[in-house]
Amino acid sequence: MKIALLCRNAELYSHERLIEAAEARGHQIDVINHLRCYIDIASGDPEIHYKGESLKGYDAVIPRIGASVTFFGTAVLRQFEMMDVYPVNESVGISRSRDKLRSMQLLSREGIGLPVTVFAHRTSDAAEVLKLAGGAPVIIKLLEGTQGIGVVLGETPKSAESIIQAFGGTDTNILVQQFVKEANGEDLRCIVVGEKVVAAMIRRGAEGDFRSNLHRGGSAEAVKITAEERSTALKSANAMGLNVCGVDMLRSNAGPVVMEVNSSPGLEGIEKASGIDVASKIIEFIEKNAKAGRTRTKGSKAKRSPKLA
Ligand code: ADP
Ligand code: MG
Repeated sequence: MKIALLCRNAELYSHERLIEAAEARGHQIDVINHLRCYIDIASGDPEIHYKGESLKGYDAVIPRIGASVTFFGTAVLRQFEMMDVYPVNESVGISRSRDKLRSMQLLSREGIGLPVTVFAHRTSDAAEVLKLAGGAPVIIKLLEGTQGIGVVLGETPKSAESIIQAFGGTDTNILVQQFVKEANGEDLRCIVVGEKVVAAMIRRGAEGDFRSNLHRGGSAEAVKITAEERSTALKSANAMGLNVCGVDMLRSNAGPVVMEVNSSPGLEGIEKASGIDVASKIIEFIEKNAKAGRTRTKGSKAKRSPKLA
């Protein structure tokens, strides 16, 4: 097969691993920096221009679009979809996952466990928002945050209110969420590929940090997940319309609660913690599923399958 790896930096561990796994399985894989692509919208025959050439003949595309370039990255991916190139994750699913509120709305519609969450913008009534979220301690999150930046703990009613007011004074959207204390600074990441959880790890925050992000100095180890955690991960991936994703949850007293679904999960932490070759699982998934026209993106002229495999 001829596979396009849409990413900015081919040297990242995750990207190197995907290239290695694809080549080991006899595929051609080309790194395409989506930010250097030009897309031809006007013609009826969609095209992508890259380094002076028109991209042709791809069977599948692996999108690894950074959060800061979601808008242009998903536009390029959409163009691939319109050219009937099979996307490991569709542009729509990626856009959904990048919006924490939208994601939570989709997950809640499916009855998936979530922490009590209140969404607010420029709120004047911090006390009311706090009350709706169940009172302090609460977690306050910037909707656009990633890697643990923009996630704050409001421990007391006074500090929680002043944080909500401070964020409210800027032009940002925030989530105020029940603090799942019993998670003990740990969270669970399940990697979904297709209809399976292929690997899982527990991440632990650095000493004194409630955030378990590896980018914040957390550590990870392999973990055996429960049947409920497995089904929560699969339902979440399905609700978001993602074939490959990392589903992050907290182990609350009321069972697993999902915090977010990541459409470009990093492979380094999970492969090292679990010893599982996730990159090859992704390539195998493509081998089984990449058929022209298997995208639900409107505008594709080919016959679409009603449901992704
Ligand atoms: P980001 O997108 O920046 O990674 P997350 O929503 O994943 O933001 O939050 C970062 C980390 O903070 C999580 O991995 C988790 O350890 C901790 N955390 C987030 N929300 C809660 C919560 N409601 N209760 C307890 N811990 C939380
Ligand atoms: Mg996170």
